[in-house]
This record gives sequence, structure tokens and C-alpha cells, in this order.
Amino acid sequence: MDFEKLRDEMVENQLVSRGITDSRVLHVMRKVPRHLFMDESTWYTAYDDLAFPIGEGQTISQPYMVAIMTELLALKGDEAILEIGTGSGYQTAILAELSKDVYTIERIQALSEKAGEVIKKLGYSNVHLKVGDGTLGWPEAAPFARIVITAGTPETPEPLIEQLSEGGIILAPVGDRFSQQLLKAMKRKGKLSKEYHTPCVFVPLVGKYGWKAD
Ligand code: SAM
Repeated sequence: MDFEKLRDEMVENQLVSRGITDSRVLHVMRKVPRHLFMDESTWYTAYDDLAFPIGEGQTISQPYMVAIMTELLALKGDEAILEIGTGSGYQTAILAELSKDVYTIERIQALSEKAGEVIKKLGYSNVHLKVGDGTLGWPEAAPFARIVITAGTPETPEPLIEQLSEGGIILAPVGDRFSQQLLKAMKRKGKLSKEYHTPCVFVPLVGKYGWKAD
């Protein structure tokens, strides 16, 4: 399969056509090999307009969702980012291309290990992986200029707000277990000023400040 051509088509047909304009985001979406973050038997669908199962009941996010979240983070390249929900590691790699350091937490060890292998193989040395409950954040590495939650949450976990820098941005799919809206909030004088973006559907954020496990 010509993955480079498929990525170019994905960028034009799924991202540019839906209004993604940040040239650096479009560039890395053309560059990062999404198929490598999926099982080889599913590579045929890697550049389709879909979230896709990656095992353990979890999903790799839809390319458009990865692109819009990355665009909303407005990265300059010097940021420390905290990502909650490593999943396949695909969004992690996109963020690693556009920032200084990415700290990423995944609650399922097998997924974190698999993601870590691909991240290492692709040569990203600015990614730090941890297994645990991401709703507690990563206090030893805080503060973060950007925090991105890639699982659906009833509200923005309090420890993450504390670990966000003044002037920093946090993104989270906020809503019920089955549908959410993408929240972008900026921290000003310790408080969040909020704006809501696209409706979305993410797997649940499971943890102390998220949903209870089934
Ligand atoms: N952006 C990822 C990608 O493109 O592969 C997809 C992330 S997936 C939609 C959400 C991930 O969040 C799942 O892997 C899930 O196990 C993880 N997760 C859920 N609750 C979590 C928590 N409290 N801490 C860390 N990870 C969590």
C-alpha cells in the first residue's frame, strides 16, 4: 500500500476540507505513519475517517479529532504537554513533533508498552510514558503549558487544573459516558475561561476524578 499517498489524501479529504488550517499540524499529519500505531492486520483502514479498535476495549482516535485537538492547543514548540490517555501513542507522536516534551499517562499497561515501542522505533526522545490514573496528573513534572485529555470525562479533573501553568490551555471531551463536547479552557488568575468546540465521542476517562470502572 502507498501509505504516503493515503496520508496526503487523508489530509486533503478529512482535514483541509473540514477547516484545519494550521500548516504545521497539516505537515505532521502528512508525516506521522498512523498505520504503525495499529495492528498490521488493520493497516488497510489506517487512513480512513475513523476511530479504530486497538485492543483492551480502547481506540486510536479519528485523524480529524487528533488534528483539531492539536490545532486548538496552539503549540509554538517550547511547551511541556501532559497527555492523559496514551492509547496507541499516535496523538503522542503528533504532539512530540510540535512541542518540547510530552508526558503521557495511560491506565492500561499493555497499551502503554505497545505505544512506547512504536514511539521509540520512530525515534522520539522527548516522550515520557507512565502507567497509572491520569486524572491525578503528573505532579513531579508539573507545571504544564498544555494538558490534553483524550478520553471522555464528566468534568475537568481538579488536579489537572492545578498542574496547568498560568496562561496554559487544557482540552477535554466533556459530557456523559456516550457523547461529549470538546472543551478548550485557558487558565487565567487560577480560573478557567471556557469555550466549547466540536461534539465528539470518546471512550470514558476512568479514574478518581473521572468515571468509575464498570
Ligand atoms: N489519542 C489516542 C490515540 O490516538 O491512540 C487514543 C486515546 S483512547 C481514545 C483513550 C485512552 O485513555 C485509552 O487508551 C484509555 O485506556 C485511556 N484512559 C482512560 N482513563 C484513563 C486514566 N484515568 N488515565 C490514563 N489513561 C486513561
